[in-house]
Amino acid sequence: MEKMNTKRRIVLVPAPGQGHVTPMMQLGKLLDLKGFSITVVQGHFNQVSSSSQKFPGFQIVTIPESLQESEFERLGPIEFLLKLNKTSKASFKDCIGHLMVQHGNDIACIIYDEFMYFSEAAAKEFKLPSVVINTSSATNQACRTFLSKVNAEKFLANMEDPQAQDKVVENLHPLRYKELPVSDMGPVERVLDLCKDVVKERRAFAVIINTVSCLENSSLAWLDQELGIPVYPLGPLHITAPPPSSLREEDMSCIEWLNKQKPRSVIYISLGSVLSMKTKEVSEMALGLCDSNQPFLWVIRQGSEPLPEEVSKMVSEKGYIVKWAPQMEVLAHPAVGGFWSHCGWNSTLESVTEGVPMICRPFHGEQKLNAIYIESVWKIGIQIEGEVERGVVERAVKRLLVDEESASMRERALVLKEKVKASVRNGGSSYNALDEFVKYLEKVELSS
Ligand code: UDP
Repeated sequence: MEKMNTKRRIVLVPAPGQGHVTPMMQLGKLLDLKGFSITVVQGHFNQVSSSSQKFPGFQIVTIPESLQESEFERLGPIEFLLKLNKTSKASFKDCIGHLMVQHGNDIACIIYDEFMYFSEAAAKEFKLPSVVINTSSATNQACRTFLSKVNAEKFLANMEDPQAQDKVVENLHPLRYKELPVSDMGPVERVLDLCKDVVKERRAFAVIINTVSCLENSSLAWLDQELGIPVYPLGPLHITAPPPSSLREEDMSCIEWLNKQKPRSVIYISLGSVLSMKTKEVSEMALGLCDSNQPFLWVIRQGSEPLPEEVSKMVSEKGYIVKWAPQMEVLAHPAVGGFWSHCGWNSTLESVTEGVPMICRPFHGEQKLNAIYIESVWKIGIQIEGEVERGVVERAVKRLLVDEESASMRERALVLKEKVKASVRNGGSSYNALDEFVKYLEKVELSS
């Protein structure tokens, strides 16, 4: 078929979550700037098209047979992903078939979120090159690769043995077996099934990771060796390709509130786009925050359980609450001195990029990995373990913003910030990785 367009097209397949959509769309922006046309294929919920005005020129198409949000709520994340990958295969093939007709065989490559591995069947059928993007850390990717190879029965038996659990995982120092990200997302067997499927289905010629080599050097080296295909650390994508793509409306009034606060006095609190806390925990947290006497900006998302009235009154006197914040602007604001976070990877990268020390309150396995890096590897934060109780909250906020140790944490955070910012400048590691990736894409294109 004749070519209708001189620009080659890249098809992006994001997973339906804010933390996945944001880096994928940022990658789309970068590739758009490098001269590719972009098509985004989405499912039925957390749709990219809700923010399509931010991506002029992008084509956005929906796979008709993709699962609805109610299925996500009914099944939970692991079962949802396992099912989604079964049900979307045929429909995605049809979709690529239509795009091939529409764009005159002009698709250079399919880049899919690692959890959207149904994309491989279409890539194979239409002989298109595929690339995986991993929107979490390289360490998490290394753990998943490791988990895809374990014997499930033996692994489960080892989980009962405290000695085995305390052992450091071979070549993944400093991680111990008990820190591998298998907890809290569903039954461990099913998490292992998903890790195995992700790796088994993969035919991609490269992996992109939203990370920076100065943050995760050893995990990246391990992956390079283990995967046997090029690994491109292109992050942090939110600074290489602004503006970001929020799926929700940002409440900008908090910036005016921040403008009235003293430099580095405010603790910003957000648990990302999915998690919420139990009312008791929220109340203890609110009381601890008020006792700390530091001003705070708190994201309490729509649909979260309401605070008891007396707590709510106290909170609104001492702090500022929004349903959704412009997080990157907040973290870059001079009044912000600390970030209380669930340690999602995007939030972690955004905080590191602005040199903001963190209080880590991770919920899931992957977030726990990030917390280990924040507290013990980069040493730019503290982790709260066990019960969230008002005294613990007050002490943590003081340690992060007021006590002597806060100065050295901030200093390390600022050094890391400079390294990360340097990585995206001309000649930096992420800048070079992007250049190499684009060259590689052109080479693969020519040979396909
Ligand atoms: N975020 C935001 N405003 C908020 C809370 C979160 O813009 O009020 C963004 C945040 O900047 C980040 C994303 O939502 O890019 C959350 O991603 P992360 O990986 O940290 O956590 P997840 O939502 O995947 O658990």
